[in-house]
Order: sequence, then C-alpha cells, then structure tokens
Amino acid sequence: MVICNACRYCEGYCAVFPAMELRRSFSNGDLGYLANLCHDCRGCYYACQYAPPHEFALNLPQALARVRSETYAEYAWPRPLAGLFQRNGMFVSLLTSLGIAVVLIFTARLQPSAILYGPHRGPGAFYAVIPEAAMIGVGGATFAFAMLALVMGFLNFWRDTGGGPVAQARSLLKAASDVLTLHNLGGGGYGCNNRDEAFSQTRRYSHQAMFYGFLLCFASTCTAAFYEHVLGLAAPYPFLSIPVLLGTAGGFGMLIGTAGLAWVKVGSDPAPAANDLLGADYALLALLFLSAATGLLLLVLRDTRAMGILLALHLGVILSFFLTLPYSKFVHGIYRSAALLRHAVEHTR
Ligand code: SF4
Ligand code: SF4
Repeated sequence: MVICNACRYCEGYCAVFPAMELRRSFSNGDLGYLANLCHDCRGCYYACQYAPPHEFALNLPQALARVRSETYAEYAWPRPLAGLFQRNGMFVSLLTSLGIAVVLIFTARLQPSAILYGPHRGPGAFYAVIPEAAMIGVGGATFAFAMLALVMGFLNFWRDTGGGPVAQARSLLKAASDVLTLHNLGGGGYGCNNRDEAFSQTRRYSHQAMFYGFLLCFASTCTAAFYEHVLGLAAPYPFLSIPVLLGTAGGFGMLIGTAGLAWVKVGSDPAPAANDLLGADYALLALLFLSAATGLLLLVLRDTRAMGILLALHLGVILSFFLTLPYSKFVHGIYRSAALLRHAVEHTR
C-alpha cells in the first residue's frame, strides 16, 4: 500500500487506488475494506513495474486476495465457526455431500418404494414424497440462520472499517447501482485481465449471468411461497406460471454464469492468483451449478417416476447451500457490497 501510495501509476484503474490515497497509514479495518473493494481484475499486476522479477516482487491482486480471505474468517458469526474458512473448498464439498446423503437417506427411510418411485402429478405432488412441514421447517430454519449470520458479518465488517450511519441517500443509490450493474467489473469498458495482459469481458458477463440467475431463482421461490400461502395454490405449478418462468430463466442464468466463471478460472494466469484459495471458489461454483442443474432436471422430469429421487436430490443440494452460505465464498458478495457502500460514502463526502 505504501509503495502504491508513492507510485500512484494505477490510480485510474479501479476504486481501490483512489480510496488508498485517502490514507497514509492502514489499520486492519482499512486493509479489509480495500481488499474487498478490489474485484481482482489483475490489471495492476500486469502494469506494475515493481512486480516480479523486480526485487520488491509486488503482487497486489494476490496480496489483496489473501487479505479478503482473512476478512471472511475475521467477521464470521458466530466466531467459533470462523475456522470453517480454512480449507474451505474441502469443507463446502464435504458438507454438500453430507447434506445430499442425509436428505436421500431420510426420504428413502420415510417413504415406501411405491411412494418414492411412484408417479405423482397435480397440486401437492411434491408433498406426497417429502412432507410439507419437514420441507418448510428445515428449509426455513437453515435459511433464517444463514441470513442472521450474514447480517452479523456485514455489521462486524461495517463497524471495523469505520462504522457510522449512511447519512446521504446519494451514497446508497451509488452503492446499489455499483452492486447491481457490477460496474467495476467493466474495467472502464475494457474488462479484466483473465489470462494475460489482454482485456476480456467474459468474467463480467459470466458473473452477471450467475448473479441475476440467482436473483431470479430467489424471486421464483418468493413467488411460489406467495402462491402457496396467500393464494392457496399448491406446487408444482404449470410451465407458464410466474414461479416456473422465473426459476427456469434463473436456472439457465446460473448454469451459464457458473460454467463461464469456472472456465475463466481454469484458463487464468496463476501468477497474480492466490492459488491455495481457489478450492473455495470452485466449491461454491459447483454448489451453485448443482442447485440450478438439479432444479431444472426436476422441472423436466417432475411427471415421471424419477420425481421422488430428484426432489430429494435437489432439496439436499439446497439444504447444503443454506448451511454453507455464511461459511463459503458466498460471503464475498456481502463484504464487497459493504465495501462499495463505504466507498460511496467516502466518495460523496
Ligand atoms: S501496483 Fe505497481 S504500478 Fe500500480 S500503483 Fe502500485 S506500485 Fe505503482
Ligand atoms: S486487481 Fe484490479 S481491482 Fe484489484 S487493485 Fe488491482 S486494478 Fe484494482
């Protein structure tokens, strides 16, 4: 940071450098803020005259990736679970396998074969395989805990990076716009340096597909809950109903986005990356891909005898997703949004 603050060659590259220039010394909170403001485009690595083989061996994207990873553990809630961010790829993979196995075994033990492998059609068909109370009870409890943990993480981050109220609506609007448009991933129109010094928008478009796919799937679930509990219409719903249309579009968005991001990662230059942290990235991408793939498969085959097993498989993946949500790479979305809000507040001032 001190070298960059003296050099300032990269100050037009991203939001990190102007924010850095507002400081002369850097607290832990400052470093956490700047690390989460970095979107890992790697432009500053290829531009830097102090990068290896220079004796300073400055590798800012790699250093910031490591600090980012430390903030995930530092702000985790409850604190005793912070250790789950170590070897995170293995933790997420193991818990996913366990979640799928538990739901499959629970369903197989609960239901006789005639029910599990029998065809079920029409309203309430899913509840014939897995009781509504179990589905809503387990899903609702794990989701509520995940939301609480994410909110607590956000508040920990906010307090440590300066705290204080967001006084101006302008700051909120700017931060919301930066989050929703993934403005910084655009790199001023050039994109990121994924593989080498050449610029590409593939990472940004893949991230957009995954992000909006995820939001559409969430909207689909909320709409389905409205249909079920307010309108009294039990799932499954027709192919042209709002929940199914939202879920289908979202599912394809997540498939395309996660596959695109994995493809970018596989082909990227390892030099500016923190390679020991890649396991966490791949584990989350795989979990999101599985969530979308099993959901779409269930949609296509829901009128066949495979529905029971596919439903259990999909719910096992979703349960694992909820359980790992506050202790996986997913938290980068929370801290990055908080860093963008902090930056918007500074920018407005
Ligand atoms: S990354 Fe290198 S070139 Fe860029 S501001 Fe820092 S020291 Fe200067
Ligand atoms: S990697 Fe990109 S976003 Fe991160 S500090 Fe360097 S130029 Fe900025």
